[in-house]
Amino acid sequence: PTALVWFRDDLRLRDHPALQAALKAGLAPVPVYIHAPHEEGAWAPGAASDAWRHRSLAALDAELRQRGSRLHVFAGESLATLASVAASTGAAAVFWNRRHEPAIDQRDTRIRRELRQLGLRAEAFNGSLLFEPWQLETRAGDPFRVFTPFWKAALQAWNPPGLQPAPDHLPTMDPVPGEVALAALGLQPVPRWDNTFWDEWIPGEQGAALALQAFIDSKLHTYSEGRDRPDRALTSRLSPHLHFGEIAPWRVATQLDAAGPPDERAAFLRQLGWREFAHHVLRHFPHTPDDNFNPRFDDFQWAQPDAALLRAWQRGNTGVPIVDAGMRELWTTGWMHNRVRMIVASFLTKNLRIHWRHGARWFHDTLVDADLANNALGWQWVAGTGVDAAPYFRVFNPVLQARKFDPQGEYIARWVPELRGLPARARHAPREAGAAGLAATQGYPHPIVDLGESRNDALAAFARLKGR
Ligand code: FAD
Repeated sequence: PTALVWFRDDLRLRDHPALQAALKAGLAPVPVYIHAPHEEGAWAPGAASDAWRHRSLAALDAELRQRGSRLHVFAGESLATLASVAASTGAAAVFWNRRHEPAIDQRDTRIRRELRQLGLRAEAFNGSLLFEPWQLETRAGDPFRVFTPFWKAALQAWNPPGLQPAPDHLPTMDPVPGEVALAALGLQPVPRWDNTFWDEWIPGEQGAALALQAFIDSKLHTYSEGRDRPDRALTSRLSPHLHFGEIAPWRVATQLDAAGPPDERAAFLRQLGWREFAHHVLRHFPHTPDDNFNPRFDDFQWAQPDAALLRAWQRGNTGVPIVDAGMRELWTTGWMHNRVRMIVASFLTKNLRIHWRHGARWFHDTLVDADLANNALGWQWVAGTGVDAAPYFRVFNPVLQARKFDPQGEYIARWVPELRGLPARARHAPREAGAAGLAATQGYPHPIVDLGESRNDALAAFARLKGR
């Protein structure tokens, strides 16, 4: 008999609990992927995620083929597909690794029940987190709302699973009725606007392993200082690999154990901790991708929607150099440095006073690491509306931020070529460079808002809220 191994956001063969469960039970694994974006509620994957997924699925298929197997791809209803593939391959079981997005979680609970009613063994495993989202709780038995005690509890409960190699060989299966070609899923963009992405990324399990090794070899030892410097690219860039499950977080943590100074390791693990925290929060507060965690902000006066301002932000034409550099990096590579994510999010929600939802939506569509839990947490953190959030009145000054974290304006010059002709320090605020400097900026736009005035307006709106 066989077991269907239903691949989702766990596109790897090492450290794969669902695959291991099939092998342990002595069942021949049938690797299955089902394209069903309509089952993901309001947060179906965005365009950049699809482009990544296409390549990651192709990489997984290649890994499976090297071992005698392959990925069986379908499109349609997940439950109906699993039931029919189980019938046609004589499956005794269906195994998968959990996803925690609310719509998916509900769907999977229903599917498990229905499959069991059909007489199949249906089981879900933890394939994506160091801690299941319900595992840690406060002393009072509540969910955590603050990161530091959450992470303290996590370190006390620390017990990552052992590492599992990929199986050497997997059984070969005949074609299954209803299979489609990967290309037929239409995940690749038309026209191919993603071409610029692939100089930067190698989707798939091997790409993930290379990214981790490169980080350990050359970046880990300066991580705590370097992680805030967009000009120096000193973070791991593991986020899309972790999102798509091309590497297990416990493999990252374990390989790190053998490397680098302890303080740097701890600083990096803490960031992985934020990912854990985001999933904990999403599980316990499933409305937070759409609505304020803090209901006090439900009365906040966001600016009237202005499509032109939003568009200027999206396409990196705000006239504020660090903001534009970040938004153009995102557009060109599908990723943005964390420090700059905070700056562009603060600019949108405070200087433009546009609701964080619009920013989260754009990120969801354009990031290759778009992740419902991390994205919602990040946006609500910056907007001041979330769990353990930065206070609303903390408005980032994008010019000062740029001076501090991109001191020579190198990051700005990389992404905003109009400003390359300016002396390094003038790139942060071209208006201050005088007439000669401005003439060199080749049509770079004037700022779409006055930073000082808009900051004051935002604080005034916040004060009105306080008065209620
Ligand atoms: P590293 O610094 O190398 O960190 C290692 C890993 O830790 C990351 O790959 C990521 O999985 C995790 N991590 C790091 N910082 C955070 C964080 N603040 N919150 C949660 N996990 C973190 N991250 C996403 O993965 N997907 C998103 O959709 C996303 N949206 C964001 C939106 C905003 C407004 C902000 C401020 C942050 C967002 N982040 C998101 C978090 C963070 O910016 C990225 O995880 C990070 O930039 C990824 O780069 P890296 O892999 O080089 O990070």
